[in-house]
Amino acid sequence: MAWMRFRKKEMPEGLWSKCDVCEEMHFQKELDEAKKVCKKCGHHFRMSAAERIATILDPDSFTEFAADIEAIDALKFVSKGVAYPKKLAEEQKKTGRKDALVMGIGRLRGREIVFGVMEFEFLGGSMGVVVGHKVLLAAELALERKLPFLLVCSSGGARMHEGALSLMQMAKACAALARLAAAGGLYVTLLADPTTGGVTASYATVADLVLAEPRALIGFAGPRVIEQTIKQKLPKDFQRAEFLQQHGQIDRIVPRAELVDTLERLFGALLGPVVGASTGRLTGESLTTEQSPIAS
Ligand SMILES: [Zn+2]
Repeated sequence: MAWMRFRKKEMPEGLWSKCDVCEEMHFQKELDEAKKVCKKCGHHFRMSAAERIATILDPDSFTEFAADIEAIDALKFVSKGVAYPKKLAEEQKKTGRKDALVMGIGRLRGREIVFGVMEFEFLGGSMGVVVGHKVLLAAELALERKLPFLLVCSSGGARMHEGALSLMQMAKACAALARLAAAGGLYVTLLADPTTGGVTASYATVADLVLAEPRALIGFAGPRVIEQTIKQKLPKDFQRAEFLQQHGQIDRIVPRAELVDTLERLFGALLGPVVGASTGRLTGESLTTEQSPIAS
C-alpha cells in the first residue's frame, strides 16, 4: 500500500519494537517508559545492564567497580574459525563492556547496596573467569562494607571458550558467597530471562532470597537433553519461573513495575530502616584483583 511505503520512510530504524509474544508493535520511547514490559500481554523484554541500573537504582547513584578486568585466552580457543580474543573484542565493541558482569555500589531508595548485573548481550551473559571473579569481588565488597548484595542474573551458562576454567567459577563464587552468608550478610538475586546452566547451578540460586521475573526461563540443561536422559515427556512450562515457584525453587515472582517497591520493603524488613544515607560518589578504582584473598 502506498501509505505504508510512505510511513516506512518516515520511521527511522529502532523507533519501534515488536513484542516476541503477542507481536504488538511498541513505540520505543513508550516501551522504555514502561520499563520494557509489553502493555498488551505483560511480556518482559530483555534489558541491558545499563537499563537495569537506570530502572532499579536511584538516579546517578551507581559507581562501577573493577570495570577493567578482562579475560585471557588461556586455552587458545577457536570457535567456528574465530579466535577467542577476536570474539572478545567484538563483544566489547558491541556492548561497551569488558565482560559480561557489571558490579559496583549504588543506592536503592536511599539504601546503599552492592549491585551486580549480568550483560546478556555480551556473549550470551556467559560465565567465564571474569564473571566469576567479579561475583567474588562483589561478595567481598558486601562483606567489607556491611552492605546487602543484589545480583540480577541472565546468562546462557558457563562460557565454552574458557572450558573448565569457567566451571571452576561456580565453586569460587559460591565460596565467597558462603563467607558472606556466614558473616550474616544478605544476598538477593533476581533471575531474568534466561538464567541457565552453570549460573543457575551456582550463584543465581544460593541466595537468601531468589526472586524472578514473570515467565523467565530458568533451568540447568535444556529440555531436549533432559527428555533424552530421563526418557520422559516434560511437563508444560517446567523451566518457567512460575513452575519453579510452585516447586519451591523461587521465593517470589516480581513484575518489573513492582520490583523497586518490593526490594525496598524486603531490605527494610530484613535490615531495618535506612540510616544516614551517604551522599557523594565512591571511587571504584581502589578494588583490584590483587586485593582479593581468593583470586583465581
Ligand atoms: Zn506482548
